[in-house]
Amino acid sequence: MLIGVPKEIYPGETRVALIPTGIQELLNAGFDVIVEQDAGEGAHFSDEEYRTCGASIAPNAKSLYEQADIVIKVRQPLEDEVELIKEGTTLICMLDAWFNLPLVQKLAERKIRSFALEFIPRTTRAQSMDVLSSMGAISGYRSVLTGAMELPQYFPMLMTAAGTIHPAKVFIIGAGVAGLMAISTARRLGAVVEAYDTRTEVREQVESLGAKFVEFDLETEEGTNSGGYATEKSEEFYRKQREQMQQKVSQADLVITTAAIPGKQSPRLITKEMLHYMKKGSVIVDLAAERGGNVEGTVAGHKEYIDGVTIIGYTDHPGRVPVHASQLLTKNVSTFLLNMAAEGELNIDMEDDIVAATLVTEDGEVKHEGLKAQLE
Ligand code: NAD
Repeated sequence: MLIGVPKEIYPGETRVALIPTGIQELLNAGFDVIVEQDAGEGAHFSDEEYRTCGASIAPNAKSLYEQADIVIKVRQPLEDEVELIKEGTTLICMLDAWFNLPLVQKLAERKIRSFALEFIPRTTRAQSMDVLSSMGAISGYRSVLTGAMELPQYFPMLMTAAGTIHPAKVFIIGAGVAGLMAISTARRLGAVVEAYDTRTEVREQVESLGAKFVEFDLETEEGTNSGGYATEKSEEFYRKQREQMQQKVSQADLVITTAAIPGKQSPRLITKEMLHYMKKGSVIVDLAAERGGNVEGTVAGHKEYIDGVTIIGYTDHPGRVPVHASQLLTKNVSTFLLNMAAEGELNIDMEDDIVAATLVTEDGEVKHEGLKAQLE
């Protein structure tokens, strides 16, 4: 079967789903690979490198989609791209399916078999396919660098002849993959770091990275739900959380918010009123910006100034590290694909929990139970 890698056309997207060094593994498994011209440009991989590593080059998207049996992508296809995908194609990408229901419907209607990589279970066996972890870690890393660059002050403690500089205080809300990477990055830069998560089971991980786990008088989540994710709380819970976090937020120089609930809008954890009590010149990096943001005033994709506080709502942190983001995606996507491969063909085994969790559409139907319920 022929695996096709199109050039991403999502605005601002720099990543590519397969880098040249990932091709050989797919060839060894009996597949052929075709890459759209300039697909690797944003991540600094040339057509020449793809050719040298064994791929052929399609001159444009139309030609690629006409030929490919399996399409691997970073982002969900946009409307123009869906039209190009031929019936019977297998599409593997981050579909962002909960928030793209009309697209899911359309993929089903067009008889495209689609897999959503964001549904890969957070299990040990699936770890090397886990795009959310790969990309979350980059977001956590970049959030600190972006915040540090925006701060009008030093990050580390310094004792100079001209006086002592106190280290920056960083408060991180949500200690999942991104939050933990943000903690370690901020610590390496010399900040004093505190973190909070509704899942108290992360305390040990937070502390092992040299940060303080902050306790609030709030209901906690031991054990959490099946996927290890946080569950949605009541508005009363969030009100109490905001009230109790106020002091930590107002003492911080940099706040990084990462609180997310899968498939839902992100909880509002910092209000405009709370911004008023923050230090002038302080910075918030809101990693939940794409889902409405944890901060009132966040604008997805932008930097805002409110009441002396800079609020960064960039949604393309992984795309700002396109080389390594693409390298990690290559490993994630290839491992996912090869898990279903047998001698250059696909063998869709619904007994496999990874396949069952990620299959979204097939044979003209929406197969994912949760999405099907949403569409009814
Ligand atoms: P996520 O992006 O869904 O959420 C980020 C963090 O925000 C989570 O830690 C969540 O608990 C926290 N959060 C939600 N609401 C909050 C609130 N009101 N206040 C403070 N924090 C709040 O999470 P993620 O980083 O994708 O990780 C989800 C889970 O998956 C974690 O349990 C993680 O350890 C687990 N995981 C497992 C594996 C594996 O076993 N292979 C790999 C990666 C992640």
